[in-house]
Amino acid sequence: MANFRNKILSCATSEEAQWPAWTEAKGEALMVSNPGVKVVGKDEYMAEYFRRGTWLALAEKDPGKDGFDVLWSDVCRRFLTKASEYFAEASAPIPACPLNFQVGDNERISYGCYNTYTRLQHHRDEAVGSLEQVGYIRQHALHAVRSRVESPCWDWIEPKMAEVNGVDDTAKTNGVNGHHGSQTMDIDALVVGAGFGGIYQLKKFLDLGLSAKAIDTAGDVGGTWFWNQYPGAMSDTEAYLYRYSWDAEDLQSYPWDKHYVYQAEVLKYLKHVVERHDLRRHMFFNTTLTDATWDDDARVWAVKTSAGTTFRARYLVTALGLLSKQNFPVISGIDSYQGEKYHTGAWPAGVSLQGKRVGVIGNGSTGVQVVTEIAKDVAHLYSFQRNPQYSVPSGQRAVDPEYRRRVNENYQEIWRQVKDESKTAFGFPENEDRPTMSVDAETRKEIFETAWAKAAVSASSKIRAKVKDPVKARKLMPTQMYARRPLCDAGYYEQFNRSNVDVVSLHETPIEQITPKGIRTSDGVEYELDVIIFATGFDAVDGNYTRIAIKGRDGVSLKEHWEPTGPTTFLGLAVTGFPNMFMILGPNSPFSNIPPAIDTQVEFISDVVEAAEKTKQSSGRNPIVEATAKSESMWTDECDQVSRGSLFRRTDSWIFGANVPGKRHAVMFYFGGLAEYRKTLRKVAKNGWDGFTMG
Ligand code: FAD
Ligand code: NAP
Repeated sequence: MANFRNKILSCATSEEAQWPAWTEAKGEALMVSNPGVKVVGKDEYMAEYFRRGTWLALAEKDPGKDGFDVLWSDVCRRFLTKASEYFAEASAPIPACPLNFQVGDNERISYGCYNTYTRLQHHRDEAVGSLEQVGYIRQHALHAVRSRVESPCWDWIEPKMAEVNGVDDTAKTNGVNGHHGSQTMDIDALVVGAGFGGIYQLKKFLDLGLSAKAIDTAGDVGGTWFWNQYPGAMSDTEAYLYRYSWDAEDLQSYPWDKHYVYQAEVLKYLKHVVERHDLRRHMFFNTTLTDATWDDDARVWAVKTSAGTTFRARYLVTALGLLSKQNFPVISGIDSYQGEKYHTGAWPAGVSLQGKRVGVIGNGSTGVQVVTEIAKDVAHLYSFQRNPQYSVPSGQRAVDPEYRRRVNENYQEIWRQVKDESKTAFGFPENEDRPTMSVDAETRKEIFETAWAKAAVSASSKIRAKVKDPVKARKLMPTQMYARRPLCDAGYYEQFNRSNVDVVSLHETPIEQITPKGIRTSDGVEYELDVIIFATGFDAVDGNYTRIAIKGRDGVSLKEHWEPTGPTTFLGLAVTGFPNMFMILGPNSPFSNIPPAIDTQVEFISDVVEAAEKTKQSSGRNPIVEATAKSESMWTDECDQVSRGSLFRRTDSWIFGANVPGKRHAVMFYFGGLAEYRKTLRKVAKNGWDGFTMG
């Protein structure tokens, strides 16, 4: 058997240009990349490497995150099928060759490779014959995987790794990407998450002169915009407001040529901000906070990460994202499906849907964007809809220079209106002539009902006018009130006029089972599909918090703290019993356009920390800032009160946590508007950080 020890097989990317260079340089690997990745000459390379008997299972951008390893099982299955086919065709015996696992810099790769291993073990008799695994598994990646996956396999992987590697990967630490080995880092502040929130918080801490680092599970900056690379992904906040408000110079010059920005543009913008402010060297990617414990004696947070490093940080800021933890439907047979499966919230690079039969489950903001974008490319598209929703035209169009000039000239005033006058912070004037609560309950109901009837009639007639087939139009007609996060689109209903696009009403024929071939509904129809796309949303707001162990005073975890009541906070950013910890967009943060809400919270957190740091000079001790139990309970009550007038509360959506089976239906936002929220923050600051203890 070939000896592969110490042969470092580097990881590949999906970029065509790199493929030949990579393989020639290393000369000893078969790669299996994600399904759909277009790689020039891939088949020839595969054949060649099968011939050499040197296999490498590899993927990039695997959405193995959080247990969704379906894609990887697909990759493995294809890999093995291809291998068997090749050997059958070549009438060659399947060699007893080693299978090498390359585990790259990206945690998703490592997780995927781990899954490959377990799945290959499962299949080896049937497909490979004999499988001797010699793994070059990088130290950091092993940490990353091990912290997430329980398995007896570790018992042999670890010694094997030590035996095979003889390489200490920690030496390769570059301080930027991923692996940083088993070490403890004492710092002033740790920021978790590198999306809009984490990036700005890191900057603010550095500006305060604190030693600060940021970590993210993702392989790069971007948060939402790193993960949601599905076709059609874009923002529906106007481009000039879907950005930071604090860099006046950049606001004037950074380009946006359409009214709404696409995913790639937002990602590019966030990368640009990171480079512009030289933040990247303080960031660690492929690094997940797994466990954070408050040490009351030392007055620091001990934060364990998947990359092996423990951070000891005086302040911990979690910017974990409110729409970040993917929600998978519980549908029987899901694992038996033999085609490709993707969740939009962890979309891998390089997927091609061209000419395929595709099923999309879900028709919220995401589902609508996906359907609109892919309908023209696929052989057949079935949109599986439980509750159809209203969607209005986005009016996406090019920005004319005059518009941009006006925005540039008025940016200061625009942000003032958005932050200090507006509720929703979306940049349009809100009619405050008649505040909701200024009329009695009876009148209010009447006004709502009249408005609803008008809206329903006009929206329904629009759908009927746009969708020519009356059966499809009926299935697309919403039956619930217009009380979810509003949707907009660039020609969604029109897609249903294509002969290759159908809508399946799950009210009429619910999904009974996902089968090996596709989706079977209650009428016995089996929709045969090459690809299933889950546009099924997120375990929103607290979803990322309750899956990790954040333990405050007395070892009580955040999950336990929230168990009896549902998620509670003071101002959406602090929790009693969790000193020196702040959340960005934690439960009961304002419900508004997000970037200005993030700017507001980051600036407040930074001001509190700055004030606390001043106490250090007199006390000589690490300061502690903590929300009081009373302030947390008052804020929670206020959010509950304010939300009582909201129609959102009467519909089952993620906004009240009602989209995840078994999740508590709870108030998760402050619906009083951004301007009111900011007033409250100013009051808290002015009254000596009222609601916090400090010292
Ligand atoms: P995120 O961008 O979600 O970043 C959180 C990061 O934390 C992630 O990268 C995640 O990997 C990381 N993380 C989580 N847990 C851990 C852990 N334990 N350890 C390490 N890292 C961790 N909002 C609007 O206002 N307007 C819009 O038009 C709009 N469009 C959207 C479109 C889509 C498709 C989606 C999904 C959301 C949209 N949103 C929009 C909401 C969007 O989430 C926010 O605008 C914003 O991007 C949130 O930034 P964030 O930094 O708070 O969180
Ligand atoms: P979502 O609004 O929660 O929609 C999820 C969809 O999946 C719903 O249609 C839901 O049906 C369906 N679904 C869930 N479980 C199902 C099951 N078991 N069977 C059948 N259908 C199921 O999620 P999202 O579309 O990803 O959007 C979430 C939020 O992200 C948005 O509200 C928005 O804030 C943000 N977002 C914004 C944009 C943008 O343009 N700015 C784009 C994407 C996302 P039901 O309705 O019947 O529950």
